Amino acid sequence: MKYDFPVTKTTSPKTKPAADSLKFGTCFTDHMFVMDYQEGKGWHDGRIVPYGPLSLDPATAVFHYAQEMFEGLKAYKTSDGRILLFRPDMNAKRTAKTNDRLCIPHMDEELFVEAIKAVVKVDADWIPEKEGTSLYIRPFIIADEAFLGVRPSKSYRFMVILSPVGPYYAGGLKPTKIYVEDRYVRAAHGGTGEAKCGGNYAASLKAQVEAAEKGYEQILWLDGVEKKYVEEIGTSNAFFMINDEVITAPLKGTILPGITRDSVIALLKKKGIKISERRLSIEEVSEAAENGTLREMFASGTAAVISPVGELSYMNKKSVINDMQIGPVAQDLYDTLYGIQTGRIKDDMGWTVEVK
Ligand SMILES: *Cc1c(COP(=O)(O)O)cnc(C)c1O
Repeated sequence: MKYDFPVTKTTSPKTKPAADSLKFGTCFTDHMFVMDYQEGKGWHDGRIVPYGPLSLDPATAVFHYAQEMFEGLKAYKTSDGRILLFRPDMNAKRTAKTNDRLCIPHMDEELFVEAIKAVVKVDADWIPEKEGTSLYIRPFIIADEAFLGVRPSKSYRFMVILSPVGPYYAGGLKPTKIYVEDRYVRAAHGGTGEAKCGGNYAASLKAQVEAAEKGYEQILWLDGVEKKYVEEIGTSNAFFMINDEVITAPLKGTILPGITRDSVIALLKKKGIKISERRLSIEEVSEAAENGTLREMFASGTAAVISPVGELSYMNKKSVINDMQIGPVAQDLYDTLYGIQTGRIKDDMGWTVEVK
């Protein structure tokens, strides 16, 4: 191995939660990966230490101007005891792009993946094995220079924390109700829409809260200029099947280039289903829902993998999609992706990476 990270083991290991009590992002493992960056010195001192709180100066840059990025991926334990990551090289590539947009120093892509592997290995016995569970991996970088001026920080901290998580939907795939947001905007051209940074999320909370108050689980974002074209669903990418064509928004700077999105596109191509990356207006979606040609709608993302949509509300008009049932394309994509991720289906796409 090119990288060798020292490990300081915890002296007080935590009790692991029962597999059927796992939620999302509430429980963390015994260790974390930490690495520092200093201007002139680069990324250095990658290490694995006991999980615990940080001590930061109140003037630390990230608290004031949100110079920060994050990633998300999962580790699964296969039935024969192997540990699989799903396309971690893609998270490394996306990190490089996000870092560039936020003036965070570049991190070697191999270093990024090796850091994840190393900490997952140390906490391997935290990976739950029950159906639908996994170990959620959260790499992130914060600007940690204590300085209140507005400029890129001269120092950073990269960390990887791990959280055992339960199935996203306790009772299996369940179609969600989506509110089409027509007032707030998530991203505009030239903004940070394609970067995975906390600021995007802070700006989206208001819309999410208001949609939840109306009884909706997620938001469908429209483009920031005309509020006309569909973009993303909450923290996932959106797919629409109209007649025999599956459509998703193109990567033009305002949507997050999801790794699940990329995988869905590749699988649809392989299965011979027509997939288009093109602009799609909300009117076209509404019409298709009305005349019955909107056969399926679903979201893709690491957390839920594939999440079918059963109802859409746009400008006080509600459309029910596929009778609030999961469509065959969404179900098949879920089964294939989840099957590959967990090692139950042979990975002929070369997507899984074993942690040894
Ligand atoms: C992370 C994220 C996604 C999904 O990306 P995956 O790599 O598939 O998990 C989609 N949209 C937003 C806004 C995201 O932050």
